[in-house]
Amino acid sequence: MIQPVALKEPPATVEESGALDYISASRLKMFSECRLKFYFRYVAGIVKPPVPALFVGTAVHAVLQQWNLRRWRGEPADVDTLRGFFADYWQSEAAQRGIDWQGEEDKFRDQAWRVLCHYLEQTPIPLDERPEAVEVKVERDFIAAGLPPLVGVIDLVRSGGRIVDFKTAARAPDAQMAEHLNEIQLCCYAVLYREATGHEEGGMEIHHLVKTKQPKLAVTTLAPMSNDQARRLMKMIVSYVRGVQGEDFVPCPGQHCAWCDYRTECRNWH
Ligand code: SF4
Repeated sequence: MIQPVALKEPPATVEESGALDYISASRLKMFSECRLKFYFRYVAGIVKPPVPALFVGTAVHAVLQQWNLRRWRGEPADVDTLRGFFADYWQSEAAQRGIDWQGEEDKFRDQAWRVLCHYLEQTPIPLDERPEAVEVKVERDFIAAGLPPLVGVIDLVRSGGRIVDFKTAARAPDAQMAEHLNEIQLCCYAVLYREATGHEEGGMEIHHLVKTKQPKLAVTTLAPMSNDQARRLMKMIVSYVRGVQGEDFVPCPGQHCAWCDYRTECRNWH
């Protein structure tokens, strides 16, 4: 059994940590990116304060959630209404999260609002299109396969069963790469959508809000999850569960280490 050491607190066991209480897209994705990072976050339970760019993404998501909820309820969802929500959210949440802004909070706040305004101007979603579902939490049990349940929250389901996921990004993504990098998450949503509705999704969309000086919007439209993708996801889920049960938490160094919050812990691992 491989056991990371040199942590300040003794690590929890997998069972005590709850790491296998359920499966989620973010857990699967982190495990596939780096098993040791997964260990630090979900088994040892080391939670880091968000970096500014991550908080920008969180604030953008919160405003888009509000935008979707308001459209769903038939309430005003214009830019002026959302401006107030954004200002209140930023003020209350940023203060609580211990973010090290390095004197640049105003710059990040402006960046978040600019990219939101651009999205609201350019969105392919008509204002009068009523969502099918907004921020819906779904669970799919895998009891028959002896696996923990898959749980997730779907940002938005457009009319026609089109699953939408919002992302913020530093640069516009290539469509093929966007599909490749987000396949785990979107296929998890497809599984959950089918569980909740009993039928296949109409398609999937990734809306990338690009935080360049002149903000951009990149929409990647994808077909419904294929049988091959569904099989691939199940193989990843099985491998993930076996890996966590077997405490297979080796580091997986790569370019992603550049933005990993656990580099100090990682260098102390042996
Ligand atoms: S620094 Fe790299 S190898 Fe180490 S935990 Fe982070 S992602 Fe994994």
